Amino acid sequence: MLPYLKQAFCNLFRRPATESFPKGEPPKAAEGYRGRIVYKPELCVNCGLCMRVCAPQCMTRTIEALENGDQRITLSFDQSSCTFCSLCADFCSRNAIELTDDYMLVGTQPGDFIVSGTFVKKAPPPKMTPEQIAEFKAKAEAAKAAKAAAAAAAEHE
Ligand code: SF4
Ligand code: SF4
Repeated sequence: MLPYLKQAFCNLFRRPATESFPKGEPPKAAEGYRGRIVYKPELCVNCGLCMRVCAPQCMTRTIEALENGDQRITLSFDQSSCTFCSLCADFCSRNAIELTDDYMLVGTQPGDFIVSGTFVKKAPPPKMTPEQIAEFKAKAEAAKAAKAAAAAAAEHE
């Protein structure tokens, strides 16, 4: 017992064996490193392709219907199950996902590893009635005829 007490007492006056984190400026990641995910909701069109190619299924999407018919869409990435394969970013034709060279993924709770963004998708315009379609077609035909008549008149001048 005595040796242990002696050791414990000595340890009280020693410097910590561990190092503080982060310690200074971290070294830069190698070129092409795939680290922390950045999601840009303003570029996203909600095609869902990123979710389909993600093998570990780290993405979740919530769609909330708004009163005016629009939809509020939130896409979240759980980096704690991500393999940083970059397939989601490679398949995103809108470049809305980027894997940065930031490898300092440190957190104390699951939420610290979630990256998410929200955007509002506008509702499609209401469908036209048959009468409105007929009126639209008539106007288009009239405009076409007027253009042709103007072109013919210009030819005869
Ligand atoms: S992030 Fe890209 S791939 Fe994913 S839903 Fe948006 S546009 Fe589609
Ligand atoms: S980088 Fe992560 S989120 Fe993207 S497809 Fe790969 S595992 Fe899924």
